[in-house]
Amino acid sequence: MNNILNFQTAIEQANSIVIFSHVNPDGDTLGSMIGLSKLIELNFNKKTTNVIIGKTPDTYAFLPYINECVCNQDMDKSKVYDLAIAVDVAAKDRMSDMQDIYFNAKNTANIDHHITNNNYGNINIVKGFASSGGEVVYEIAKGLNWKINSEIAELLYIAILTDTGGFRFENTSSKVFTYASELIEMGLNPTQIYRQCYESKPKAMALLNAYAIQNAVFRENDKIAYTIITKDDMKNFNAKSDYTEGISETLRQINSTEIAMLLKELPNQMTKVSLRSKKVDVSKIAEVFGGGGHHYAAGCTIQKPPKIAVEKLLELAKKSLNE
Ligand code: 5GP
Ligand code: MN
Repeated sequence: MNNILNFQTAIEQANSIVIFSHVNPDGDTLGSMIGLSKLIELNFNKKTTNVIIGKTPDTYAFLPYINECVCNQDMDKSKVYDLAIAVDVAAKDRMSDMQDIYFNAKNTANIDHHITNNNYGNINIVKGFASSGGEVVYEIAKGLNWKINSEIAELLYIAILTDTGGFRFENTSSKVFTYASELIEMGLNPTQIYRQCYESKPKAMALLNAYAIQNAVFRENDKIAYTIITKDDMKNFNAKSDYTEGISETLRQINSTEIAMLLKELPNQMTKVSLRSKKVDVSKIAEVFGGGGHHYAAGCTIQKPPKIAVEKLLELAKKSLNE
């Protein structure tokens, strides 16, 4: 309670507020950031600067007020904000080149749901058992008796919906359904939101997903499934960076899969890794490379090209299968 009261006081005292979502933004970080921004506007009559780091994914271009967000490239790095808030940002390096603006602010808040979060803010509202950033923001709003409108409800619902994989992943608690129900009562249309989130994929994204599955490699009696996407693949499919979302989940859908890995080639001989599992704690594997996340969904960047990165990952994955 103390933390959320401190958070409210920080908002009341601030004349300039900036909110950051994480790099490679997903539905949770965007929905929670814009939802929180609109909550602050509605309850404190204050406008916030909402920052998208990298490109706005095509798949979330429908989000209310997304056009009011600014891109990290357009931020003035010398500006000192009264309050900087990070939402759904598991670790400070997930703010990429925005870390200086965040830490130069007079006050910092860290609102998150990743167990690996190390409380990098002054005010930390980190709930490792919450399904999503959206759930944490909604609990703050409820705890402080903030007003909510139907658009804010929609943003928070999208955050919860997408981070629970459409109410399917292990983070789908009874609380999630209670909150979803409360948010639906505020006037949103779940079918319409479902279509926008899950039936509006660009064709190239669906084809890239199919290609990645077709090229998957299976190890350890098919318990480990991985696939590599190169820069050339991305070019060939005319794919934007967010088009790889969902590939590691598709690999996990196979009955034999215990650990699924997507390795995506980055510039400068680096690899972005998405890990998914059914039982194994893959956040431990991600942490070996300075990443993190959740038990069954984690990620990291490895400073090696995919062909080398995969060997190290396989070694760790095999070891964790036997633990
Ligand atoms: P995804 O595979 O969808 O990119 O990420 C899965 C989960 O791991 C998400 O909750 C995400 O926030 C977290 N994650 C992904 N990459 C990183 C990373 O480089 N560092 C940390 N700390 N967490 C990550
Ligand atoms: Mn999240």
